[in-house]
Amino acid sequence: MDIKKLLKGINDCSCGKSHSCPITYVDIADGALSRLPEMCKDYKNILIVCDKNTYAVCGKSVAEILGDSVAETIVLQDQTDVVIPDESQIEVIGSRVTGSTDLILGVGSGVINDLCKYVSFKNDLPYYIVATAPSMDGYASVGSALILGGMKVTLNARPPKAIIAEPAVLATAPTPMLQSGYGDIIGKYSCLNDWKLARIIKDEYFCDEVYELTMSCVKEVEPLAKAVLSREPKAVGALMEALVAVGIAMAYVGNSRPASGSEHHLSHFFEITGILDNKEYFLHGIDVMYSAAVTCKLRELLLEKGIKTEKQDRGDWQKEIRRIYSTSADECIALQNKVGHYAADDSAVVASKLNQIKLVLQSCPSFNYIKNLLDEIELDFDAFINMYGQEKIADAVLYGKDLKDRYTVLWLYYQF
Ligand SMILES: [Zn+2]
Ligand SMILES: [Zn+2]
Repeated sequence: MDIKKLLKGINDCSCGKSHSCPITYVDIADGALSRLPEMCKDYKNILIVCDKNTYAVCGKSVAEILGDSVAETIVLQDQTDVVIPDESQIEVIGSRVTGSTDLILGVGSGVINDLCKYVSFKNDLPYYIVATAPSMDGYASVGSALILGGMKVTLNARPPKAIIAEPAVLATAPTPMLQSGYGDIIGKYSCLNDWKLARIIKDEYFCDEVYELTMSCVKEVEPLAKAVLSREPKAVGALMEALVAVGIAMAYVGNSRPASGSEHHLSHFFEITGILDNKEYFLHGIDVMYSAAVTCKLRELLLEKGIKTEKQDRGDWQKEIRRIYSTSADECIALQNKVGHYAADDSAVVASKLNQIKLVLQSCPSFNYIKNLLDEIELDFDAFINMYGQEKIADAVLYGKDLKDRYTVLWLYYQF
């Protein structure tokens, strides 16, 4: 993956747009940490943010390497072992930003990245992330995923100015984090298929170059399951590069369409209902990969049983949303009323483009294909069924789509 080339963007793309990326520096290679002083030479009052684990893994050495340029190193704590990206942590970091702070440097993965992304954006400061795990594709993305008022929200922020990772450090990440990163990439099979579907049914903007870029990341990572699990630095580094490249693909189109579709809607469903009902859920990318297996099954079912081409009765969807989302139901209903997917009648377009739609659905890997990859990365599909149960999974399939405005195969399935 030639990340340096990706950072330059694409001028006059075949889609009619030009694509750019605000990240200036990506260094995922041996010795990346030793190059930090050079990368940080313009900053003299750096605020380092870690948690207990990432401080031990490499926060401490980052602080030592940067020496006098570091104004303070915050080690976030929580009552439990896991730091939650919520109001209290935002306050902790925000309170340590002074008039002379010139850079926020996070050392960690998802949570630290989201917190630093948000606080730096609020304070109009640049931020760097030193990644400690190849666990998800959010490093390079614009959005910051936080838990505010007990609810998961994604706020607009700004990507980091630099992403730095030492493969040997990434290789020490806990196994579920490695599985999560792999799963987040394999899930792109599902969202890329949704993107093609939305182009046909909703005439949505589509870019072949960005599609191919994301697909090439999937193809590069797919054979690496065993090598990632055995922590070969080269494979773990390649996974990290793919996760960053997908983030750049999102930056290119200005939203998460190339990296998030029906499989992410299901994973958000499990996370959000888990938070609402105080129930367990899997790490993001693990949920995404299980969910991609589910959405691939839906595509097969649609092809097997036939796609309805006449307008369907949508039933009392608002009642179902209230049953599922309790305190957050009003938000979902307002969103869906605004987006208008329920009111829309796609029957004519589905009827006239039925063959194209079928070809798109057929081009997605099968449930069994994803299931084999789950086996490769040592994730058991039965563990997913046992964790959530058939009933909750059925709810996710029918109402996970209501958390988002995006058109995916879940809408086609809902009509069926
Ligand atoms: Zn393009
Ligand atoms: Zn993801």
